[in-house]
Amino acid sequence: MSKAKPIYLDYAASTPLDPNVKSIMNNAYDNLYGNPSSQVNVYGLEAAEAISKSRKQIAHSIGTLSDKEIIFTSGATESNNLAILGLAEHLKKHEKTHIITTPIEHKSVLEPFRIMQGAGFTVSYLQVDEKGRLSLEDLRNAICNKTGLISIMHANNEIGTINDISSIAKIANENNIIFHCDAAQTFGKIKINVEETGIHLLSISAHKIYGPIGIGALYYRNSAPKINLTPLTFGGGQEKSLRSGTLPTPLILGFAEASRIADEKMNEDSKRITALRTRLFDKLKQSHPEIILLGSAEDRLYTNLCISIPGIEAETLIMRLSNEIAISNGSACTSGEWGVNHVFQAMKIDGSVAKGALRISLGRFTAKQEIDDASDCILKQIELIKKSLIKSC
Ligand code: PMP
Repeated sequence: MSKAKPIYLDYAASTPLDPNVKSIMNNAYDNLYGNPSSQVNVYGLEAAEAISKSRKQIAHSIGTLSDKEIIFTSGATESNNLAILGLAEHLKKHEKTHIITTPIEHKSVLEPFRIMQGAGFTVSYLQVDEKGRLSLEDLRNAICNKTGLISIMHANNEIGTINDISSIAKIANENNIIFHCDAAQTFGKIKINVEETGIHLLSISAHKIYGPIGIGALYYRNSAPKINLTPLTFGGGQEKSLRSGTLPTPLILGFAEASRIADEKMNEDSKRITALRTRLFDKLKQSHPEIILLGSAEDRLYTNLCISIPGIEAETLIMRLSNEIAISNGSACTSGEWGVNHVFQAMKIDGSVAKGALRISLGRFTAKQEIDDASDCILKQIELIKKSLIKSC
């Protein structure tokens, strides 16, 4: 008999495919293999038609009817790169050489900002507090007449702290500044309405919402202020020449289905997962009141629990738990490094607390029994580590 796999509590890194998504993708692999750009035969036309429906679904999910403003990409990394680097020419042309972000963005935002800086842009990194929250006052103060772009994530992938993107968008719009939001962690979990909120560029990804890895999208508003993006890849001119390359029909259909299901289940998921996360935190806290919650308690993505257990290094605990539970010490996107990550550094979290940081992320398929088993395993390992530390003293 094969060994049972550990309980999956790393949904912030990636999610399993929803069975309906899988079946739609399988059908597409079997039947929609034409090249959607080959519109001279029925295979290509069928694929193009299916993609068009998917585009409409995704546009609908983010609150816009304008499906023409959806550019399919390989995921939020590429969307972030296209949104930021793709704006360089436009911003330079309008002499908007100052751009704003925070130091706790995902690397796929921070790296393009570093490149922009190298290309002559001035960057303001807004400081965040110990919960990862930024101050709107600081944002207002950072703006000058050269500011052309504000890029701020919706929710942080490590600590789950949610930013007030409506207020940020309002400030951006009042100052005629482009607002880009990395919503990789929130799309499909918290309702986003790009039109009502006034977001100009939005990055989203399928594999955080029970869709396939390797597909995402960039929403870009093509009015007020008019944004001229420059492509980063060149070729056949797909996606209005903003992202050349043959569109992956099965991935796109899977993405659209995942986003349709997410809309349908958002309320139910949010209630159920919040209750499970509270149950897990309460169980751990009952035995160890000294546990520190990292990130905001109030403005927090319901799938995220980021905690630090004083005296216990995350690396040790995660290794010891590896046969029973799959969790993370921080972003899987920077995995392989056990060092203190940039988010905790920016939050000025004490080094030992940061070293103890565990990111436990729940999702649609997390069961109550799994939460009870996971908390038992964590508590057992904490006791064993503590005993071994006493012995070695
Ligand atoms: N931004 C955030 C906030 C993320 O959490 C991630 C994924 N960890 C990304 C961007 C990159 O997304 P993708 O894996 O789709 O490239």
